[in-house]
Amino acid sequence: MSETTYDIIIAGGGTAGCLIASRLSSASPSLRILVLEAGPHTRNDLFHTQPARYLYHIRPDSTTVKFYVAKESEELLGRQLVVPCGQCLGGGSSVNFAMYTRAAASDYDDWENVYGNEGWGYKDLLPLLKKSETYQVAKDKETHGYSGPLSVSYGGHYTNIGQEFLQVAEKYDKGRGMTEDINDTTEKSLGYGRWQKWIDANTGHRSDVPHHFIYAKEAEHPNLEIQTGCLVKRVIFEGERATGVEYSLNPRFHPDEPTADNVILTAKASKLVVLSAGTFGTPQILERSGIGQKDVLDRVGVDCRVELNEVGENYQDHNVIFAPYLAADDAETLDGIVRNDTDEVTKWSEIWRNKGTGLMAHNAIDSGIKLRPTPEELKEIGPDFEERWKEYFENAPDKPVLWIGAVSMSELR
Ligand SMILES: Cc1cc2nc3c(=O)[nH]c(=O)nc-3n(C[C@H](O)[C@H](O)[C@H](O)COP(=O)(O)OP(=O)(O)OC[C@H]3O[C@@H](n4cnc5c(N)ncnc54)[C@H](O)[C@@H]3O)c2cc1C
Repeated sequence: MSETTYDIIIAGGGTAGCLIASRLSSASPSLRILVLEAGPHTRNDLFHTQPARYLYHIRPDSTTVKFYVAKESEELLGRQLVVPCGQCLGGGSSVNFAMYTRAAASDYDDWENVYGNEGWGYKDLLPLLKKSETYQVAKDKETHGYSGPLSVSYGGHYTNIGQEFLQVAEKYDKGRGMTEDINDTTEKSLGYGRWQKWIDANTGHRSDVPHHFIYAKEAEHPNLEIQTGCLVKRVIFEGERATGVEYSLNPRFHPDEPTADNVILTAKASKLVVLSAGTFGTPQILERSGIGQKDVLDRVGVDCRVELNEVGENYQDHNVIFAPYLAADDAETLDGIVRNDTDEVTKWSEIWRNKGTGLMAHNAIDSGIKLRPTPEELKEIGPDFEERWKEYFENAPDKPVLWIGAVSMSELR
């Protein structure tokens, strides 16, 4: 068993993990920081830097996304829900659809007021949202930032499908109206509008976390070590203090060590262990470390160190239904790129490389609406939704109930 000591260990080098690692490394160059990430590096890989290539990551044999498969569910007529999660340096930020989607201000306030997390309200978090971004869409907006590492733009093209969606909405759904900023975080977001993207308007690159917080700052961070292909098993405790982690190498990313997953390695942390392994990864590490619901831990023979019933519970997600429509022959879509058609990929890659624009600098999502039902629509939805509406939405007028938008692509399978 080998062992190394650091000041801080970050378990999970995804969106949050890379950002925390970068900020801590810059803030305190004397700290020795280790990031342990389950998946591979993403540096300069076109499938990560070119925004339009995102569907590549959710193909069944993906090495950059892990699929969590639920048990068969009666509510889904016996089907199993599958949730993809980023598994590479950058996590979701390196494989996701790059939609710039911010919560309503009241959602953050709920974290503070409803769930009792002091310091996690909107007024505390808005400065941090602003700090991470450079908003290239419009100047001097109160809720946006202008000097952060992650650029936000409309992407390199405005597809005719996205344009027509808004033209039709303006004509036929006058009651809801248009908004100039669909991600303003306030009530002003609720209307039809153009959708922003985590894409740099100048380079056309994906605004992912590793390229902008880790790779670009390597010279600034000699104190930061990143190990990829490492699966954190559990946190090591001395008394009540977390002092390190146990992990193993994933042979898939360490082909020279085919039996590496049988070898438990240890890394020690003198100051802090941060768990940032995502919605599924973090609760699993906590549970393997003896923190969670006692009966769950008992069932799998893990000694319960801290009984914490919330661990691994109350998972919520945004379920999506893609409704396909026939499009006109001249519709501008990402289908050719998604099919990996050589001519299309070459054509759009050249424009992307030379100008940072075009469909390769795009995510197929140009317009949409964060929608709240009208009183008439609520009646139509019926009584099943009433309780949830009253408890959660009615008194929070900035909260949308659903998203509807146009996707300029039909190759989603
Ligand atoms: C396909 C897809 C599309 C999405 N589209 C959008 C979008 O368009 N807009 C948007 O805002 N959001 C989108 N999201 C969601 C968004 O990307 C995530 O909410 C966000 O990345 C979560 O950040 P995180 O740091 O919590 O977790 P992640 O970014 O998932 O990071 C967790 C990291 O921990 C690692 N890990 C897990 N277990 C272990 C372990 N045991 N040991 C070591 N490492 C471990 C994982 O490999 C991963 O890299 C999408 C997500 C996916 C998967």
